[in-house]
Amino acid sequence: MSKVIVKDGIVSNVERLNNSMLGNPNWLITFEDGTSNRTSVNRSISHWIGSHVVGKAVSVVLTPAGRITDVSVVHKAPESGYRPCACRDCFETAIGVAGAMCWECEEAECEPFEDCQREDAYGE
Ligand SMILES: [Zn+2]
Ligand SMILES: [Zn+2]
Repeated sequence: MSKVIVKDGIVSNVERLNNSMLGNPNWLITFEDGTSNRTSVNRSISHWIGSHVVGKAVSVVLTPAGRITDVSVVHKAPESGYRPCACRDCFETAIGVAGAMCWECEEAECEPFEDCQREDAYGE
């Protein structure tokens, strides 16, 4: 097995090149960092690539020669911010991504989306 290279980037442009001898599309993908790669010929991924990938964060698999053999759209990490505590029945505010808990729940070792373990959780 030859080593594959994985490259992450944001697509700034796609350009349709001449079809392969077998009539399959070829593409030149340009990334926001200014680099570009051609698709490897006769790959099924070439039928999927199109203008819809422009502006998307993608992960591409390259041959050692720098030809693209696979492309997948990377889903950006969920944004961190203020959100309700993930602990069930807790109305405190937590800071972080989904599943974050308020510090009292962190202290009480609550599990996200489970019953609250805090002693004061359910009142007197
Ligand atoms: Zn909480
Ligand atoms: Zn809790």
